[in-house]
Amino acid sequence: MVEIDYKTSPDAEALLWVEGEKPFLFTQSQAILARTWVPCQDSPGVRITYNADVTVPSDLMALMSAENPQQKSSDGKYHFKMDQPIPSYLMALAVGDVVFREIGPRTGVYAIPSLADAAANEFSDMQKMVDEAEKLYGSYVWGRYDLLILPPAFPFGGMENPKLTFATPTIIAGDKSLVSLVAHELAHSWSGNLVTNSTWDDFWLNEGFTVYFEQRIMEAVYGRERSEMLATLSRQDLDATIADISTSEHPEDSKLKLALEGRSPDDGMTDIAYNKGYFFLRLIEETVGRERFDKFLKVFYNSPVSGDGYRNFPRLPPEKPC
Ligand SMILES: [Zn+2]
Repeated sequence: MVEIDYKTSPDAEALLWVEGEKPFLFTQSQAILARTWVPCQDSPGVRITYNADVTVPSDLMALMSAENPQQKSSDGKYHFKMDQPIPSYLMALAVGDVVFREIGPRTGVYAIPSLADAAANEFSDMQKMVDEAEKLYGSYVWGRYDLLILPPAFPFGGMENPKLTFATPTIIAGDKSLVSLVAHELAHSWSGNLVTNSTWDDFWLNEGFTVYFEQRIMEAVYGRERSEMLATLSRQDLDATIADISTSEHPEDSKLKLALEGRSPDDGMTDIAYNKGYFFLRLIEETVGRERFDKFLKVFYNSPVSGDGYRNFPRLPPEKPC
């Protein structure tokens, strides 16, 4: 066994400190910032479990990508356990004056007190989303699925931290018009968090599959018309991105399989991975038929991990030539 004593710094790049009436802290480890606050093998091809003891001021609650409290502890001490192996980019911590609101038996939302009711209302379909996702591609294996509403300083829409999606407050639109973001982060509980890109060159395996799955959740919960509207918007974004990339310094970035050696993995986090990936998978669905493609996806997401940490994907026998 190797034990490492270490201290991190408030300036670690993964940490974002937000001033306010009550301070807020949150982390963003993806793609390669986990290494700035925890010593780790910071590659998506390596998985870890973790335990953490966290002490915070007693008027704040600490939350992680792990089993979480639903109430503040009186002494500000929290213990966390993530006993399912996750890649380092899913290590996450948030500390703030938040309260919990239950949505369904396995779903809920954390937000600052003044936003809690609006958030619970906006995301009232979350449990239904989980139920529909399970009907599509198999059991949700992470226990609870909760959502944490972060301060506006959060630089992304959402981050699929296991058990606890981090989300921007701007998705609380008042009319559920932006809840596809929750469908997206929920879908990551299978695509990305169970089956993970081994290197950032294969980022589309995380995001393309997730956009496809997100679309299927949206279709199941809100109907085909709504999911097709989202697909049209994705196509417009994709066309604009392809036009930009084709005249950029790296026109080869329009390929699904990236070659980012010597560059930041963040350079690959474009609409290509998300929406070109999605339209590629949709093309397969429409070519082989939804029933057959769903059968493949169910196996893809639920294949057991063998002793060496890799998945062996069984091949489905061909049903008819295509
Ligand atoms: Zn995503």
